[in-house]
Amino acid sequence: MEQTPKANRVHIGFFGRSNAGKSTLINMLTDQSVSIVSDVAGTTTDPVSKAMEILPLGPVIITDTAGIDDDTELGALRIEKTEEVMKKINLAVYVLRTDEAPTVEDMKWLEQLKKQNVPIALFINEIETKVLNSQQVDSDNLTFTSGEAYINDHKELAKVATVIGYANFTSSDKRLELLDLLGGLTPLDIEGEHSLLEGLVEPGDTIILVCPIDEAAPKGRLILPQVQTIRDILDRRGLALVCQTEELPAMLEKLSEKPKLVITDSQAFGVVNAMTPPDIPLTSFSILMARYKGKLQDLVAGVEALKSLKAGSKVLISEGCTHRRQCDDIGTVKIPNWLKQQGHDKLDLTFTSGGAFPKDVSDYDLIIHCGACMLTRREVLRRIDAAVVQGTPIVNYGVLIAFLHGILERAISPFLDELQQ
Ligand code: SF4
Repeated sequence: MEQTPKANRVHIGFFGRSNAGKSTLINMLTDQSVSIVSDVAGTTTDPVSKAMEILPLGPVIITDTAGIDDDTELGALRIEKTEEVMKKINLAVYVLRTDEAPTVEDMKWLEQLKKQNVPIALFINEIETKVLNSQQVDSDNLTFTSGEAYINDHKELAKVATVIGYANFTSSDKRLELLDLLGGLTPLDIEGEHSLLEGLVEPGDTIILVCPIDEAAPKGRLILPQVQTIRDILDRRGLALVCQTEELPAMLEKLSEKPKLVITDSQAFGVVNAMTPPDIPLTSFSILMARYKGKLQDLVAGVEALKSLKAGSKVLISEGCTHRRQCDDIGTVKIPNWLKQQGHDKLDLTFTSGGAFPKDVSDYDLIIHCGACMLTRREVLRRIDAAVVQGTPIVNYGVLIAFLHGILERAISPFLDELQQ
């Protein structure tokens, strides 16, 4: 379970007002201290995430966010981060407490979540009289409100939320019941139903993976798309053969039968294309990833924009994580150089990484995105959709590099039927 890549887990975000009990609920559900819990409103600053297993959902990442009513100096920044979480998650938990009626802010955020089509589990924190300040409130006059009564009093809540759980979050009595409620939801846009090689590998098929170990390769391990591809081949009872670029001719020669498919790192596309006989299908990890995360069609359509780039055209090169840059880094060095070789030497280039994908991309003439192996499918779809809606063409590294090397047609031929649908 610990090895499930972050991008493949169901991402669950916890939202609500400061001290509604989000952090306490997370700690109760995970049975450990994940979030900072305090009586002081606004204790959670940056979103805090934790990997765990919730059946039947499987491996999940749960993220605690800052309170939506944060009016401290850092409040605006925290709320911006909370909004970012909202765009990535597959499932939302919204937390309210029985001693406070839902506010206009609560309803605004619930509506915002609903607009994202994310299933919302509404959890009501049943506050006990003893936690209230007895000096200000005469405890004898206090009445305990059950979560059910709270929902009956505020029927507008049931219109936006799909599941409602009640509990006192400081007690673990209902832990399993609440986990069951969460596990019973159907998350939005999860990757679990898909796989990288869907429809491409049958039992007994031989697949060659070309994985160059150059300066940019991490020490002592393969990168995530390569590992995921190997695992998928094994799951499908195929035969996975792995080599570096230079060894590909020897590997092809040793095989008594042609491989079903050759998959290469995009950076070696040109050389591997020349080494691989034309009757053997060839594609790249990056193109497989684009198909897996969705919208390969849009990324292929985006290459048309390359033909109309001119001096001064604005191009955004965006990467999904903040890895350490190498001297021949693909995003900042190799791609700009390949574009130059094609005559695009005076482009106005902007680079972003990690969560820093701009909201407004309408000014760009083209977006070039990395393979996005570390991003959830939902986040990738959001970025592609944002570009398409704002009329900005978008490609990914694999599609761009195949196009620049004149082999895009070959690289997408294994999926031609899907692209034409
Ligand atoms: S830059 Fe993109 S493709 Fe490369 S490791 Fe990060 S998310 Fe994956």
